[in-house]
Amino acid sequence: MLVINAGYLIDGISDEVKLRQSILIEGDRILRISPVDKAEIPPDAQIVNHLDGYVMPGLIDCHVHLCSPGAADPRPYKDDPESILAFRAAANAKKTLQAGFTTARSVGSKFDVDIKLQKAIKEGIVVGPRLVASGRCITITGGHGHGGGIEADGPWEVRKAVRTLIKEDADVIKVMATGGVMTEGVEPGAAELTLEELVVAVEEAHRSGRKAASHAQGNTGIRNAVEAGIDSIEHGVFLDAGIIEMMTQKGTALVPTLSAPHNISIYGIEAGIPQYAVDKNTRVLECHLQSFRMAYEAGVSIALGTDAGTPFNYHGSNAGELELMVKAGMSPMDAIKAGTSAAASVLGLQDDVGRLAPGYMADILLVKGNPLENVGLLKDPKNITKVYLGGAAISRS
Ligand SMILES: [Zn+2]
Repeated sequence: MLVINAGYLIDGISDEVKLRQSILIEGDRILRISPVDKAEIPPDAQIVNHLDGYVMPGLIDCHVHLCSPGAADPRPYKDDPESILAFRAAANAKKTLQAGFTTARSVGSKFDVDIKLQKAIKEGIVVGPRLVASGRCITITGGHGHGGGIEADGPWEVRKAVRTLIKEDADVIKVMATGGVMTEGVEPGAAELTLEELVVAVEEAHRSGRKAASHAQGNTGIRNAVEAGIDSIEHGVFLDAGIIEMMTQKGTALVPTLSAPHNISIYGIEAGIPQYAVDKNTRVLECHLQSFRMAYEAGVSIALGTDAGTPFNYHGSNAGELELMVKAGMSPMDAIKAGTSAAASVLGLQDDVGRLAPGYMADILLVKGNPLENVGLLKDPKNITKVYLGGAAISRS
């Protein structure tokens, strides 16, 4: 048994910070949380005191691309063999976990590298976070992400693509409702998979108990995806009041991934990012932030996602997204909830992770400093003094 005594406890779901709480962990789950002074501690328990610091749930990133290195220009990497992608994904998974992200969702991998990586992590072959993996994305012929995705045109091809991914053990289905920034020759604003195709993708995913997530930047494509019953809109650049109302009614989550356009705009062409990506990014940047604010104010469920793997958006720097959400108008506590309980719900893991409560996995961060005063401190691994994954302290070296 393990006991973590927390000076300040953020549980990931409530707005209240509880003082001097004792977390009793048995195996990989939390057994009890009680005030330090009243806690019944088993005599053989190992006690970790963090009474001068904050304790919070492990963070969750709903949108990563573990095969992608975060290079300025992705084009030289586009023909990487499966073996290199697998080694890179394993290294990136380790960095993600060491940065305090105890759960991550891969939404778009080449081949089935992320699905196999999940198995390797579970077997203990490599170190990484709990992984929810989509395998390849589904896109139209020549559409966004077609380089590593399954190209499917028409409802029956889409249905077959979803079934193929389920056969390959995908946990979640990722579809492309619009063009995007990083694929040359496609437009972020343009709709891609049709409403009819999206309806089939969602239906087929849900039938097998899986969630469906859509890359969706342009207005029409977002509307199509929400109408089709998609579980999460990834990016959501060009939202409007009508779509936002539909999202709140249907409970569609938004995974804004502010880090992706932010890094492209900060580094630009001088740093080697392709001209086509910088040009498209300039067109989406402001609208993206406006859409985020509108969605937040309207009460859309917002979950943390970084799009890590896009230019200068490095695996292990995922916590930068918290700071960007706060800069865009979110309260620090809501940003932390977006990265814990709200993210867990998007992944369908709301009963297992994203909260510190009895019965939940003991995925826990010990933090130096107050993240509610400065959420950006979570970007520096030195401020996260310990990461526990299922009650086991993770080696940070
Ligand atoms: Zn992405």
